[in-house]
Amino acid sequence: MINQFINSIIDNLNFKNGHQVEFIQAVKEVLSSLKTYIQENPYIIKSGILERIVIPERLIEFRVAYQKDDTTIDVNTGYRVQFNSALGPYKGGLRFHPSVNQSIIKFLGFEQIFKNSLTGLPLGGGKGGSDFNPKGKSDGEIMRFCQSFMTELSKYIGSNTDIPAGDIGVGEREIGYMFGQYKRIKSEFTGILTGKSLEFGGSLVRKQATGYGLIYFTKEMLENINKQDIKDKKIVISGSGNVAIYAAEKAIQLGACVVAMSDSSGFIYAKNGINISYIIDIKENHRQRISEYINLDNSAEFYPASEKSIWSIPCDIALPCATQNELSLKDAEILIKNGVIAVAEGANMPCCEQAVHLFLENNISFAPGKAANAGGVSTSGLEMSQNSIRDSWDFETVDKKLESIMKNIFKISNDTSIKYNNPNNLVVGSNIAGFHKVATAMAKQGIL
Ligand code: NDP
Repeated sequence: MINQFINSIIDNLNFKNGHQVEFIQAVKEVLSSLKTYIQENPYIIKSGILERIVIPERLIEFRVAYQKDDTTIDVNTGYRVQFNSALGPYKGGLRFHPSVNQSIIKFLGFEQIFKNSLTGLPLGGGKGGSDFNPKGKSDGEIMRFCQSFMTELSKYIGSNTDIPAGDIGVGEREIGYMFGQYKRIKSEFTGILTGKSLEFGGSLVRKQATGYGLIYFTKEMLENINKQDIKDKKIVISGSGNVAIYAAEKAIQLGACVVAMSDSSGFIYAKNGINISYIIDIKENHRQRISEYINLDNSAEFYPASEKSIWSIPCDIALPCATQNELSLKDAEILIKNGVIAVAEGANMPCCEQAVHLFLENNISFAPGKAANAGGVSTSGLEMSQNSIRDSWDFETVDKKLESIMKNIFKISNDTSIKYNNPNNLVVGSNIAGFHKVATAMAKQGIL
């Protein structure tokens, strides 16, 4: 009966949005974890919670045009999905990448609802972005694009309505240009975006937060489930952007050895451990390709993406931190064969559905992104608090709060997995724990 009910919701979504594969994948993953919970809570069906939660409260799509340096005009599509505001104002990042479309934005926005709920902070779920490709663009082009994007987006956001942040392709530079444009249009200096520079309302640790948070969560999972320490573990991390870099930095600080990292062109392998300061210099200071690393460390090797998968490198812990569906079933089989003991998602939905099932079937400790990468949005919440009280906290204070939030997310996900007869299954645990609070709030707020 519950199965039939869930299937009918997915069938209906397939009928209406069948081409939105990433969105349907994310909905299926959450809904299929909720069976026991729905059985125990008949109000979910009576109040139409599932039918309502899978449809965004609002989806805004707009044109973003700007002039390139060569005077030609580049036209892109901008999006903001305001998915669910049961727990607070919409909160979620902006992604600038050519692959962005409605399906990607909706899957990210849907995930964000439950992730934000898990943080314990009063935040609703949203996401946005554009199919704009920042690669190879000049600083002037990036600025003009950001200004054009914010000119339109500013009509729909506000510090008590919707507070975007960064994601793929959107870092401190882009947030700065968008913040400036919002201030210019509205004549208002307000915490409208998080991930800002420290000079105008940014928070210490926000840059490091998702990566550090991922490692705090992974450490907690290893200690509680595997009864092991992160120290001396061999780690492979995909990506070399914001999440990947600071996950590597924290893992190394805790005594682990990061042996491989990547970007979309391929990966580097350094069997004695990657020097993360070289990666920071290549990526953050010079915006270069990861292959540059072998010019700084001649014991390292570079493999183009077309030749070899980063997941073929043997490791104890795998941290996919690049993008959705980057880790396939075949990759999961190889990781297991090579002895992986834990996989934690720094990116959103980086492991395909079959890979997740295989990890769980083989008792590999698996941390789903909505729990493991919630450190970014948590620290964005802390940035919002500092902005509201016109204060700024020191690095240690914010870092301690972040660590405690991540430990708590692990605890509620783990406790919930036990309560619902799926011990060690953090997919079920985090989905039910995240859903419970949102569904309760929706039911109490009436039929909207
Ligand atoms: P960045 O833009 O800083 O870095 C992304 C990294 O992933 C780059 O190394 C990029 O390589 C690589 N990458 C992107 N797309 C692909 C692809 N199709 N194939 C292979 N590699 C790819 O983004 P973030 O580090 O901020 O985000 C990474 C992931 O983490 C995303 O899934 C994001 O949603 C998630 N996340 C981010 C948070 C944050 O606070 N930033 C918070 C929570 C989740 P290249 O440069 O060659 O494109």
